[in-house]
Order: sequence, then structure tokens, then C-alpha cells
Amino acid sequence: MAVLGGGTAGAVVAARLIELTPWSVTVIEAGPDYGAFAAGGWPADLLDALTLPDTHDWGYRGAGVPGGAELTFERARVIGGCSAHNGCSQTTGYGPDYHRWGLSWDDKQVAQAMRDAAAALRVRAYSDDELTPFQAAAMEAMVACGIPRTDDLDDLDGGVGCGPSPVNNPDGVRWNTAFGFLDPVRAEPRLRVLDHAVVDHVELDGPTARRAHIRRHDRGVTVEAERFILCGGAYGSAEMLLRSGIGPASELAAVGIRPRLDLPGVGQNLHDHPTVELRFTASEELTRRLAEYGGTRPVPDEQVIGKARAATDPYDLHLFPWTERDRDGGWICVLPVACLTPHSRGALRLASTDPTAKPFIDHRYLTDAEGADLAALRDGVDLCRRLVASKPLAPLLARPLNAVSADRSPDDKALRAAFGHYWHPVGTCAIGDDPASGAVVDTTGRVHGTDNLWVIDASIVPTIPRATTNLPVVAVADHLARAMATPPPQPDPLENRACA
Ligand SMILES: Cc1cc2nc3c(=O)[nH]c(=O)nc-3n(C[C@H](O)[C@H](O)[C@H](O)COP(=O)(O)OP(=O)(O)OC[C@H]3O[C@@H](n4cnc5c(N)ncnc54)[C@H](O)[C@@H]3O)c2cc1C
Repeated sequence: MAVLGGGTAGAVVAARLIELTPWSVTVIEAGPDYGAFAAGGWPADLLDALTLPDTHDWGYRGAGVPGGAELTFERARVIGGCSAHNGCSQTTGYGPDYHRWGLSWDDKQVAQAMRDAAAALRVRAYSDDELTPFQAAAMEAMVACGIPRTDDLDDLDGGVGCGPSPVNNPDGVRWNTAFGFLDPVRAEPRLRVLDHAVVDHVELDGPTARRAHIRRHDRGVTVEAERFILCGGAYGSAEMLLRSGIGPASELAAVGIRPRLDLPGVGQNLHDHPTVELRFTASEELTRRLAEYGGTRPVPDEQVIGKARAATDPYDLHLFPWTERDRDGGWICVLPVACLTPHSRGALRLASTDPTAKPFIDHRYLTDAEGADLAALRDGVDLCRRLVASKPLAPLLARPLNAVSADRSPDDKALRAAFGHYWHPVGTCAIGDDPASGAVVDTTGRVHGTDNLWVIDASIVPTIPRATTNLPVVAVADHLARAMATPPPQPDPLENRACA
């Protein structure tokens, strides 16, 4: 068994297969494997859950909103993947979203998968007395603006509400999936991790994947296996399939790749939660209060989340305020709003056959014909402006830093100029029944038209959930890995006899 990509989902899949089957599993990861947490070899920035590190980034860039600035699309290149450098907010979203994926999981199983994921990642909620003065005021402002206080951010039935975020940061450590899933099975000799190993492509013989071609320390290596599971993430898995000749045939031919399997959906359906950010300098009062807070403990960037409604029940916006340092050591307060139900869809396509070359990534943010995404964000910005003017927050904010923060009714240009994303790309190898309609994998994660090639990670999510995506990715990886490890039940001969 070869797991291609040892990131968030890859660590889960490898660990479950080791645990539940007698198979040997080789994990092939482009970045470094720093070993078990207890061995003490992990770099401090990846462990520190207070702020986002940038030392292990793939360096993806691409179009933002049409006509707007190019954006960076951060993705971690290290064992544990993005779970090893992300913001550690762990929300579960809205239960019915998960049934639209077509998987064989009911409400109970989804809830159990989320609970298991949260337990493995040691998720807890911030208590009120841990909140920084900015985070506490932002939460009070949400309540003042009609978003009720709640503790149900990890409840699949929850609606509009705000509260301290569930986080996976025991003792300040970002508890990634390598710690939560791989560490318990690291001593198992059937597990092998090949790090600094970039998968170029998987070689197909008809419908059967025979070997993965890998580049490691400037050398070509091949790995043979009975099954191959791509876990490269929303960009990486699509790239690996395309380089293997699996994708839209005409697009592949255009970059010089011989098409092996014409699957028009590979790289398509790319979507994320689009955001707009209001930005302010901190007032003298907030600067003083943050210094007081920071005198006794570290200051986390991000601690509270609000779920609000623009147009879709029960909620379709996330508010996730954060603080960051400016160049002079002062504080910047950011009030972002994310549209959780985006309609716009983009695409990823290869620029070349070289696995070290970056692909073209165009999310086509805010391009849906009805303008629903922009309308939701406009409502979100109106809400943020009310937060800014509210009694708890107003004294803490000083100078607006962009037009959307300064104007009472910002125009579309100002909104687009303040555009960002929530780091949650999904959908480029979507689950579905019909390849002609864009489905890439079936409901087990197996690539249509192949007999031993799977994709299990954020790329298979056909429609993004109303959640930060880490926990949902872990949950779906665990669900599909368990299904792969469990043979389908055989008919019970005694039951047949009783019926006869
Ligand atoms: C900056 C940032 C902040 C975020 N904050 C949050 C948050 O607070 N809460 C939340 O829930 N979600 C957050 N997310 C999103 C969440 O982390 C991701 O949705 C999730 O981790 C995706 O998991 P994945 O397994 O699909 O991909 P990844 O975790 O990206 O795993 C892919 C792995 O495959 C490897 N790989 C790719 N291509 C190859 C190749 N060719 N050869 C070998 N290996 C390869 C990569 O190096 C990586 O290790 C954030 C993401 C980012 C980037």
C-alpha cells in the first residue's frame, strides 16, 4: 500500500490501515518527516500554535478576484501537511452539508467521525478568561450585534452564534495529524515513511496503477504497491493525477502528457471560502491592554468565531477576528468575514510536466452568475461595520487601513481590494457517480475507471462544508480508510435459509 502525500489526510489513512489491516504501508511525503513528537525533533515554529508559520510552504500563487491582485495559497510541505501549520480552529460545520457528498454515513456516523477526529487532535475550547482583550471585545461586539453567545461551534446541529473557538493546541502545541495518528503506530515495522520524496506520477497499465515514480534527492525512485492512495491535498492530488495522464484529455495533450484516462473533472470544481478583511490599527487603549495581557502569557492571534446569516439558513458567514504585529511592533486588528456557501468555481491546470513547476491556479472567486458570493460578503461587511461601531469594540480600534474599513458604504471595487481567502481549497477530485458530469472518485474514494487508485483528502470534497476544513478532512479520511480496511459484509447463509 502506498500513501502518496503524508499530510493531514495521509497521516490518518496510513495510521488506520496499519492499525486495522495486516498490510504494509509506505507514506511518500515531499517535505521532511521530523519523527514522533516525543523525539523532540520538530521545529519550534511548527509546534507554536499562537501564530501561522511560513517556513514549510509550497509557494503556490494564483489569481484572486478577476482584475484583482494575485494571491498566495499557502500549503504545508511537511509530514502532517497543513494540519502542521494551520490556525488550529476546529469547527465541525452544519450536519446536513455532509450528506450532500453521497457517502455512506448517517448523522450518527458523521458526528462520531467528528468526535474521533477531535479526540485524536486533542481539541478543547478556549475558556473566556484565556481570551485576549481584542478577542473578548470582538465576541462581545458580536453579541451586541445580535449573534448570540454559544458553546456549540463543534455541534453539527448548531445555528447562528459566537463563542471561543475549539482548538487543537494542548500546552500551546499545534497538535497535527502526524502526532495524533502516526505517532501511535510509528513503532510498527509495516509502516515506512519516505520523506523529501516528490511524487511525479503514477504509472497506469490499463485500469491498474503499477508504480509511483518519485524524485528524491535528485534521484528517480519507483515504488510498487497493490493499492495507491493519493493524499496530496486540493492542489497536490489533482497535480499528481494530471501528471499521470488522468484528467481532461485535451488539456493533458496541450502540456505534452499522453492521456491515459479522460476524466474531465480533474482540477475542476476548485472552491474555497472567499473572505473580505476590514483592517485597523489598534488604539492606544488596546495596545496598553494587549501589553498587560502579554506580560503574563503569550498573545494568540485568533480565538473566537462567529456564525452569522446573510441569505442561507441556518448560517452562511464566519467571523474570525485576529490580531497581527505590524512592522514597527504595533498591533493590527483584522475583522475578516468568510462566505461559507460559495457558488463560484475555479480550476487548477498544469503548466508543465515538471513536478517541481507550479500549476496555474485560478479560483475564479466571486464569479458566480447570480453574484451570490459577493452579495453574501457585502452583508458580512455591513455586519463587520456594525461590530466596529459597537460599544465593546469601537474604543479598541484606531485608524482604518483599507477603503472597505473607512467607507460607510464601500463599492464593489473596495470590497474586491480587501479580498482574501480562508485557506480551505477543496473539490478538484470530487466525489460523484458520473465522470461525464465532473466526478473524479466514487463514494469510496476510488478514481473512476481504475481498480486500485484512490484519492482521500480535501480534493474529493464535492461541496465545501460550512466549517473550517481540517476536522472534516480528518473525519472523511478516517471514514474512508476504515471502509477500505473492512471487507464488505458477506450474505449470512443462515439468514437465507431462514427466509427460504
Ligand atoms: C495557513 C492555513 C491555515 C489554516 N487554518 C485552518 C484552521 O484554523 N482550521 C481548519 O480547520 N483548517 C485550516 N486550514 C485548512 C486545513 O488545514 C486543510 O483543509 C487541511 O489540512 C487539508 O488537508 P489535506 O490532507 O487535504 O492536505 P494537506 O494537509 O495539504 O496534505 C497534503 C500533503 O501532500 C504532500 N504532497 C503534495 N503533493 C505531493 C507530491 N507530489 N509528492 C509528495 N507529497 C506531496 C504535501 O506536502 C502535504 O504534506 C488552514 C490551511 C492553511 C494553509
